[in-house]
Amino acid sequence: MHAEAAMNACRSNPPQSLGWVFMMFLLFPQTVSSPPVSNPEAEDERSRADSAKLPETRAARERMVQEQIFARGIRAPRVLGALRKVRRHRFVPPGVQPSAYEDSALPIGLGQTISQPYVVAFMTEALELKPQDRVLEVGTGLGYQAAVLSLLVREVYSMEIVERLGREAEARLKQMGYANVRVRIGDGYRGWPEAAPFDAIIVTATPPDVPPALVAQFRPRGRMVVPVGRYEQDLIRLRRTPKGLERESLLPVRFVPMVPESERVPK
Ligand code: SAH
Repeated sequence: MHAEAAMNACRSNPPQSLGWVFMMFLLFPQTVSSPPVSNPEAEDERSRADSAKLPETRAARERMVQEQIFARGIRAPRVLGALRKVRRHRFVPPGVQPSAYEDSALPIGLGQTISQPYVVAFMTEALELKPQDRVLEVGTGLGYQAAVLSLLVREVYSMEIVERLGREAEARLKQMGYANVRVRIGDGYRGWPEAAPFDAIIVTATPPDVPPALVAQFRPRGRMVVPVGRYEQDLIRLRRTPKGLERESLLPVRFVPMVPESERVPK
């Protein structure tokens, strides 16, 4: 089920069985404990001019969580809570907003994409985050994954190589109240050594192999989730244990390639 869903990261899937979904809705606890940050979405919801549409998007998020995420086996309450809360439609260009809660990756401009909600949830769960953690994300895009992380950990450091996307993400995250996210424009292959070591690292573009600089930047007992490969990509998790680095293969995926600074065509 996981593999099938992830391989469809760039396409739409048919909806899941509704009866089952409603049963899960009844069973599932609605609360989530948040880390000690302000409540960005609540502030945002009060201040947005589009507040008239709020109940609709909240229902769309609830459906997204039940049908695409819970139904495929994601159970971590904090992760599900964050996915319910973050207004995904605010992290895509206006023309794409009607599709924001669909079961697929979507274009965000400049040849880049926002990941499929299920893949965001899967990777977030795989990071095993704790409220006091500091996390590095490589591949900010327009900032959706960073916003999800922001609700779950103390600090998020996010790197983006395409300046226009990174700046837009930074402005949007700030405006929406995600105050514990820092964005840096730069080459994620180098990581963010001044802020290392991190408790967890998430890479949302695909390098051919795990970047060594990133491996050096997560602490003992830390976790790193990174897709590797070219056409065939595999999501892997590295874990630093007392016995050394453990490597697990989690899921076939399809992300945009991670490009080194030297190969980037300026746009
Ligand atoms: N995390 C995003 C999705 C990002 S798509 C979200 O939640 O929506 C992958 C992003 O990685 C793209 O924006 C791309 O420009 C960026 N990227 C590619 N190579 C990179 C590199 N070497 N360093 C940093 N970012 C990179």
